[in-house]
Amino acid sequence: MAETLFISDLHLDRERPEIRNLFHQFLSNRASQADALYILGDLFEFWIGSDDPADTHSDTLQALKQLSDSGVPVFFIPGNRDFLVDQIFSAQSGCRILDDHTVINLYGNPTLIMHGDTLCTDDIEYQKMRQMFRNPEWQAGFLALPYEARLQQALALRQKSTEAMQDKAEYIMDVNQTAVENALREHEVTRLIHGHTHRPAVHEFDLDNQKATRYVLGDWYEQGSLLSCTPEGCSLTELPAGQGRD
Ligand code: MN
Repeated sequence: MAETLFISDLHLDRERPEIRNLFHQFLSNRASQADALYILGDLFEFWIGSDDPADTHSDTLQALKQLSDSGVPVFFIPGNRDFLVDQIFSAQSGCRILDDHTVINLYGNPTLIMHGDTLCTDDIEYQKMRQMFRNPEWQAGFLALPYEARLQQALALRQKSTEAMQDKAEYIMDVNQTAVENALREHEVTRLIHGHTHRPAVHEFDLDNQKATRYVLGDWYEQGSLLSCTPEGCSLTELPAGQGRD
């Protein structure tokens, strides 16, 4: 069966081995039969350089490499947790890194894919931070620090962001509909797939008298979340976490 798969927001780390196992099983089963796999950011809880002395994600990189070596193309759009993925990551995982906001041809339907954080334009504070993190000078300075110092900074930033989120209204952390519509217009498409907000849903709306659809991928905490697209259309499904237990 022709099928292209989309996932995001797995936030893989040491603390949730059951989700890592679920992901590895997904790679060796469902994904191995797919036409392509697209990872739309935040695969990792952090990616702060390809020189992790603990090799925290080496088994995941190997599993991804195995999939791409078997002939399934794997594409990766960096998220706000793993925007520092580089060519070393790409070589080790076999993932081809795409720009955020890329239009792909999905069985004849042009489709815009992205991580999704750029759509959260109501969160001014977040967008300012994002601008800093995406600045090449900031990145070079950060990567020049010892790994352990980067890790401590990442943990501190995560703590700060968790605290900030508690004070923000729900709508501020969701996408802005005008930003969604502008992105679709800019790329002349009526279909968008993204993650980041952890609010899995299919949103249908009118865009300049055309029907537009926005698919939002879910996170991988209580279960996996998957968007499967075939020539007939796309459907959002869950992967029960039980599948991933040893
Ligand atoms: Mn994100």
